[in-house]
Amino acid sequence: MNEKKKFILVVEDEPTLSAILCEYFEHAGFEAKSLDDGAVVVDFVKHNSPDLIILDLMLPNRGGLDIYRDIRTFSRVPVIMATAKVEEIDRLIGLELGVEDYICKPYSTREVVVRAKNILRRNDMPAQEEQGDLVINELSMSAIFHQKALSLTPAEFRILSFLFKNKGKIFSRDQLMDHIYTDHRVVTDRAIDSHIKNLRKKLTDVDPSSDCIRSVYGVGYKFDA
Ligand code: CA
Repeated sequence: MNEKKKFILVVEDEPTLSAILCEYFEHAGFEAKSLDDGAVVVDFVKHNSPDLIILDLMLPNRGGLDIYRDIRTFSRVPVIMATAKVEEIDRLIGLELGVEDYICKPYSTREVVVRAKNILRRNDMPAQEEQGDLVINELSMSAIFHQKALSLTPAEFRILSFLFKNKGKIFSRDQLMDHIYTDHRVVTDRAIDSHIKNLRKKLTDVDPSSDCIRSVYGVGYKFDA
């Protein structure tokens, strides 16, 4: 099979770390390139369309957060944000940026590669599925409800599509967290509840009688069309 290699961009100003990361990715069958200057990242992404970006938060000349916001104006490329502070991750999640994943330094290089693979696999799943008045498309990460496109954050989309695919099954907050974030240490139960709350609001905005995401008291949530 002559499949085109996926291209990983590593944005990291610690030379040893970026060299090791690139080496790991190449070893795992990816093409990898590193950048260490925050100022050049957005242009590079525009011209080279990487398949996934590992983005350090603290960089010379331009911070990861600014870079990320710029990239999102023209691309939906998955981004794994790396930071040296655990507290920083909670704050970032609170901002609901739509980052695919967060990792805290020091991290295991192997773990980063595994996470990147999972994200890319998830993004590769094509199928559009339909249940009741809801249509989910994994490829475009879009959801259509009563013929109206829902504007969802990546976390909301993942919760909805996961419950949707497992219709009728009840999932605890822990199980949902495991599915939504690979690093659930840093996410609180409340984060799941607040994603669900926002998600329901978006559904009932379209159809006020919608109750396809049901709470099962003391247990968790399930989807029923
Ligand atoms: Ca740094």
